[in-house]
Amino acid sequence: MGKLTNNMWRLLGAQSSRNQSKSLTLIKKSGDHDSWAAELSDENFATEAEKLDITDPEGEDRARFLALVREAGDRALDMRPFDVQLQGALRLLEGDIIEMATGEGKTLAGAIAAIGYVLQGHRVHVVSVNDYLATRDAEWMKPLFDQFAISSSAVSENSTREERKAAYDTDITYGSVNEVGFDVLRDQLATRAEDLVSPKPDVAIIDEADSVLVDEALVPLILAGATTGEVPDKPIHDAVGKLKKTHYEIDAEGRNVYLTDEGAAFIEQELGGINLYDEEHVGTTLVHVNVAMHAHILLERDVHYIVRDGGVHLINASRGRVAQLQRWPDGLQAAVELKEGLAQTDSGEVIDTITVQALIGRYPKVCGMTGTALAAGEQFRQFYHLAVSQIPPNTKNIRVDEVDRVYDTKANKAEAVVEFVKEIHETGQPILIGTHDVAESEELAHLLGRAGVQSVVLNAKNDAQEAKIIAEAGAKNAVTVSTQMAGRGTDIKLGGSAGQKDGESTSERDEVVELGGLCVVGTGRHDTERLDNQLRGRAGRQGDPGRSVFFSSVEDPVVTRNLTLKRDPVSSSEDGSLGSKGVDLIEQAQRVAEGVMLELHANTWRYNQLVNQQRDIVIARRMKLLTTDTALAELKDLENARYRELTGEGSVLAESADSDKAPDTKSVGDEPAETAVDSDSSVPVEKAEPVPVAVLEQAAREIMLFHLDRAWADHLAFVSDVRASIHLRSLGRESPLDEFHKLILDEFGRLPGEAVDNARKTFREAVITADGVDLEQADLRRSTTTWTYMVHDSPFSSGGAKALQGIIGIFR
Ligand code: ADP
Repeated sequence: MGKLTNNMWRLLGAQSSRNQSKSLTLIKKSGDHDSWAAELSDENFATEAEKLDITDPEGEDRARFLALVREAGDRALDMRPFDVQLQGALRLLEGDIIEMATGEGKTLAGAIAAIGYVLQGHRVHVVSVNDYLATRDAEWMKPLFDQFAISSSAVSENSTREERKAAYDTDITYGSVNEVGFDVLRDQLATRAEDLVSPKPDVAIIDEADSVLVDEALVPLILAGATTGEVPDKPIHDAVGKLKKTHYEIDAEGRNVYLTDEGAAFIEQELGGINLYDEEHVGTTLVHVNVAMHAHILLERDVHYIVRDGGVHLINASRGRVAQLQRWPDGLQAAVELKEGLAQTDSGEVIDTITVQALIGRYPKVCGMTGTALAAGEQFRQFYHLAVSQIPPNTKNIRVDEVDRVYDTKANKAEAVVEFVKEIHETGQPILIGTHDVAESEELAHLLGRAGVQSVVLNAKNDAQEAKIIAEAGAKNAVTVSTQMAGRGTDIKLGGSAGQKDGESTSERDEVVELGGLCVVGTGRHDTERLDNQLRGRAGRQGDPGRSVFFSSVEDPVVTRNLTLKRDPVSSSEDGSLGSKGVDLIEQAQRVAEGVMLELHANTWRYNQLVNQQRDIVIARRMKLLTTDTALAELKDLENARYRELTGEGSVLAESADSDKAPDTKSVGDEPAETAVDSDSSVPVEKAEPVPVAVLEQAAREIMLFHLDRAWADHLAFVSDVRASIHLRSLGRESPLDEFHKLILDEFGRLPGEAVDNARKTFREAVITADGVDLEQADLRRSTTTWTYMVHDSPFSSGGAKALQGIIGIFR
């Protein structure tokens, strides 16, 4: 960590301890109100709460509020909030990210803060990482909210539109980040104000805040509509499939792959002697070659995706499980399908997209909780202007975190892991092994099996099943092999679920405590220590005993990707262990990786920023069209003749039609040239039957919205093209980011004019009757099928300096 950062931490630390001591004073004071709260009848409870003015963080009413929630927790949930939970809730009310260790009861702390916000007149969304947790937490906390007469609900993937609307109408809504985001996106399909589902954002309390705000912040949520799919160019894929190791280079992060001179020559020859770098191919063929190389070389089956039921399923790197509803950008998805010889899935056109970061940015007030916030403090500060407050544990953490065991080779490491697990398992102590990917988890389970240790493998299951398996991981003799964060958010109770029931079976728990609690084994450090700590945090909850140890090797990706070793370290012992020099190496590698991640995040953030702002502008316009009569007012102004023709307002035409005369061509001459269409017509002007203004308003709205949405979708396609080829275009002359901004700004500048011009044209030409406008007939079709998904780990996200170097390399 640099000096600057150290200083910042000191400052943060001082600030935070001042805040904490204020909170503690208040919590102490709240004890004075305990008997008042205890004597309130259930009927009076809510009324008394409503009377409080809790806006002053140090006021007497805040103290009363704390007494009330303590009493309510006791009555409604049989959980009397610990002081540390109240402390956490108070910091949440001040808009911080709080760090509370796993098992300390973040769910309750978050619920208390939600109540506090509602009492101050806010609407609260509690944002979780998945549907399972959102639904579970909403149900669990409901009695507490009921006690305060505060309405609460959850949205999940299965909720209907009506259910969603109703859910968002309550004071507190629990929802996964995907669902909340998809609802925002789906509102882009609304052509009537009453079809809007997503409410005005107010307060967001984010559970697993580091996961949502950092690990998945850049993941775009996508709303797509069916189009006739563009089939990837097979010859390009075939050519790329034949590349040899000398034909390409992979950058240190393993995120980009580049052709070497030799590789470029090979591809050019395979594609019939073309020049990849001439005008004709640079923005097209070369982009396709890059996409195909990404699919063939960087994406590995069983690491980045699995093939199941004839489809490619992405694996979410930060959670190590199949990522539902996720796909790569279309070209890449198709390329991987081609690589695996699978049928091509529907390709779609992006109608709208929003990153998790932008989604959360919509909320005027954001706070959150996580087990591992401090390590992500820099990101919270830099990207969200959020401060971190560390909340001490209720009971001291007595888990023993052992020094890493580092080996010279992967094979020696695996052997050591199996040996270690076998030894521990013989004592009966439960073991949770965290692996990095599906392939590794299966391989390890196999090795353990061969050594006579039966294990449960946890990967690629649905959240509810995951939660059940993980809950049993603390039972005596359990050996669970899991991918990174499978089942996150579910407590591992010692003794398993049996250990929690009535008195007789607590002996299960005692037995496991006696054995030392849960033993967590990591099979390699992650790119950030934060993820390592998430895994360690599975053990030692609420003062339980526990143990954690990581096994690493210098052949692990975190080392090979981030460090260039002059020579491989040599082990002096038979088992290949490297001792403290190995530990130093691993830590150094991880620090480099963390720096790279931050840089990447910052870079992508810069790329996203402008498009986010443009989206805000489009959405504001869309909302105006949707909720006011702007569309018709503008068209009336711009196409007045047509307007009068349609409404029959002050039009000679209308009168002449009424009086059943033959078409009076002379009267048409009064109209501006644009309506000349009618003058050619020899049929009586029957359409002069006036269109009621309300109908016309809606027709105008639909026309304006259609063309605005169309223009935005086209713009997004343009952005994605530019992004894919930006490092090729700028050729090292200008900064790719500047170039990107220039192109995107220019193009966006044309969007409003085009949208309005096209709307005018449609208004003039489409058939508009008392039944409204028939856009279908005018060949202005909205996608009939739409779907939502997430793009995981956009491969083009780094397109910055590194990518540029790669390309310049080719030109030399
Ligand atoms: P976290 O999300 O912080 O890991 P949870 O919210 O899942 O923790 O809670 C962990 C466990 O602690 C749960 O089993 C819950 O029942 C228990 N718990 C939380 N708060 C209290 C409390 N005030 N009194 C008793 N048990 C509690």
